[in-house]
Parts: sequence; C-alpha cells; structure tokens
Amino acid sequence: MTDSGPRVVVIGAGIIGQSTAYYLAHAGAAVTLMDSDDGPSPTSRSSLGVLTHAYGADDAYSSFYRDCHALHEPLSALLLQETGIDVGWRPLGGIDLAFDEGEAGTLRDWVDLNLSRGAEAEWLDESTLREAEPGLTTAALGGARFPQDGRVDPVRLGTALRVAAQKRGTVVRTSTTVTEIRPLDGGVDCHLAMASGECTESYDVAVVTTGAWTGELAPSVRVRPIRGQSGFFSGVHVRHVLRWGGLHALPDGDDTLVGGTVDEVGFDLTTTDAARQELMAWSGRLFDPAPSLRQLRAGLRPKPRRGRPVITPLETGTLFVATGHYKSGILMGPHTGQVVARWIMEGSPGRDMSPFTIAR
Ligand SMILES: Cc1cc2nc3c(=O)[nH]c(=O)nc-3n(C[C@H](O)[C@H](O)[C@H](O)COP(=O)(O)OP(=O)(O)OC[C@H]3O[C@@H](n4cnc5c(N)ncnc54)[C@H](O)[C@@H]3O)c2cc1C
Repeated sequence: MTDSGPRVVVIGAGIIGQSTAYYLAHAGAAVTLMDSDDGPSPTSRSSLGVLTHAYGADDAYSSFYRDCHALHEPLSALLLQETGIDVGWRPLGGIDLAFDEGEAGTLRDWVDLNLSRGAEAEWLDESTLREAEPGLTTAALGGARFPQDGRVDPVRLGTALRVAAQKRGTVVRTSTTVTEIRPLDGGVDCHLAMASGECTESYDVAVVTTGAWTGELAPSVRVRPIRGQSGFFSGVHVRHVLRWGGLHALPDGDDTLVGGTVDEVGFDLTTTDAARQELMAWSGRLFDPAPSLRQLRAGLRPKPRRGRPVITPLETGTLFVATGHYKSGILMGPHTGQVVARWIMEGSPGRDMSPFTIAR
C-alpha cells in the first residue's frame, strides 16, 4: 500500500483494462496497466462500438446492462473535458430491417415487446424507411427503429480512458507479458516477460482483463476466442446503425463500417476471403449501388460460458477478473471498470454482481 492508495496492476489494456485503470486512478489507486502488445488491441480495432438500447426487465443483469448503456453519454462529456478527445459517442438510433413479410411480422412483435418494457421503438413503413435511409435498396420493406441505440468509437474511447488515467498517475507498460500470477498473503506476485528480460513484481491487487486470453492466467475462468471481422466501405452513407441477419452497418467518418462476422478458429487473427465475400454480399443486398470494401480487420471476442461476462474476485481483496464480454465489451467496459474499481477501493461492488460469478 502506498500513501496514495493500493498498488494495483491491471493486466490487459483492452477496453476493460483501460476502463478499470481509469476508474481506479480516479479513486486514488497507484495503477500500473500492462499489455503484451503495443497500441489498441485487435479486438478494439475491429469492434463496431454499437451501444444497443436496454430492453430487459429489472433483474440484476438487466439493470447492470441499463447502467452500462446510460454511462456512455456522461462519460464521453467528461473524457472530452479531461483529455480533449472526442470519443465519438453519437445517439444515432438503430434500425432493424425487414426484407420479407415474415421478418416484418417478427420485427413488429419486437417493437411491441420493447414498448411494453419501456424502451422507445417504432415501426417504419417502406416510405418512412426510405426517407430515414436513402441509400437502401427498394427490397427493404420496412424497419423497426430504436432511437436509444448509439455508437462510440472503440479505439478513441480506449485512448481517452488511458490518457485520462495517465494524467492521474497511471503507469502504462506495453510489450510486457504477464506469464504467471501468484497470490500471496495480502497481495500478489506477477511474473513478467519483456524484451529486456524477466522479473517478478509485487502488488497489493491484480486485475486480469486479458479478454480471450484470460484462461492463460486464470484457468478457472472459461473464455473462448471467437473471431469477428469488420470492414470499411466507401460509396454509401448511412445515418443510423442498420441491422439485418446478425450484421451491422454504421457511419464512421466518410465511410460505412460493416461487421461483424462470427467464426471459431482459436487464436487466429488473420482476415479471410470468406469474411470479405460475406460482408460484400450483405452490403450488396442492403445498398444500391453496392459499396466497395476498402479495408478488413479481425479481432477475437472473449466468449464466456452461459453468455454473461465474468466479473468477480478470484482471491478476496487481492485478485480480480473482468472478462468474457463477448459482443458487448465496448458497451459494458466503462461500467465494468467502475464496479471493479469500487470493489477494490471500498471492499464492495455497490450492486448485485451475482450474475457475473464463475459458478452462476
Ligand atoms: C468484429 C467485432 C465487432 C464488435 N462489435 C461490438 C459492438 O458493436 N459493441 C460492443 O459493445 N462490443 C462489440 N464487440 C465486442 C468488443 O469489442 C469486445 O467485447 C471487447 O473489445 C473485449 O475487450 P477486452 O478488454 O476484454 O479484450 P481485448 O480488447 O482483447 O484486450 C485484451 C488485452 O489483453 C492483452 N493480453 C492478453 N494476454 C496478456 C498477458 N498475459 N499479459 C499482458 N497482456 C495480455 C492483449 O494484448 C489485449 O490487448 C465487437 C467485437 C468484434 C471482434
């Protein structure tokens, strides 16, 4: 323990690690943020950053999700003040598209369910849809609009969180791989591998935020890497987050970002011809004229067992894990970091975290 608070090492500088470091630094911890890589993680770089609205009930998981969504707007304003970085939070609204009567019927029911749960939703007929999104083909019959859907730029959000944390004293160490964590009485030892050699360092608390790689340091946490690919398209401009068949399109500067494919191939980050074809066929179906693909990127989503993240102490007070956010890590990252920081600094997460234990 230092005069300024506990010495905490956050292992893994993706969105979850950067969020955790940010809130810990705000709360007065002496933070070291380590990553084996240098620069934004491939997962953040390929991520779309869609912030899908909350439509759940009031159970512990749904209320956590709702708070995750609600945090983005005030956090983006705060980060702009703290760092001058616009993290790209935009209340774009989202539209799920229907291309046949079956899909239209399902989406109308989806609108009703959302309205019954207090979310904003409306059905758009063909002509209203066309006014909202002039680039769509005439094959789209209508859509379900959800005004509370938004978007944040994953890389800019991560950068702003890290820069703000550094301004409050966080030390960032890149090209540093943690190979082992040994819990001690009242702390942890971390064995590190760097270009300059190996060493062991002691901290009061360690937080494992290594995404798809979590099993290497915390074998009791089962997370699988699920590759996702996304691509920048030019030649079409969209205004909303558009969804159909599991893929999304959204505005990103002068481009349209389209993603994300899903395949399970282990720790393989190569981009593939199959994903290129899938994204091009999808864009050709939605837009007229078909846009062209400029650049493809791949990332590894950390997929947990039973669909929910794992956010829990592994050793009381000294070793925590926050991982397994799968398709919602950008949305859930900041509030996850906020809760973990509170857990470390105050001894309690301040909310019901039972949905996020290992044995749920
Ligand atoms: C194509 C695609 C689209 C997506 N779209 C969305 C979306 O629209 N909305 C949304 O909310 N989410 C989305 N996601 C999911 C989201 O991006 C992830 O859930 C999130 O980025 C995971 O963050 P993380 O910090 O857990 O992992 P990562 O970003 O993978 O970070 C883990 C870090 O740990 C480091 N590391 C690993 N092992 C070690 C070690 N031993 N020592 C030191 N460092 C280590 C790695 O180098 C890496 O930087 C998408 C993902 C993909 C791939």
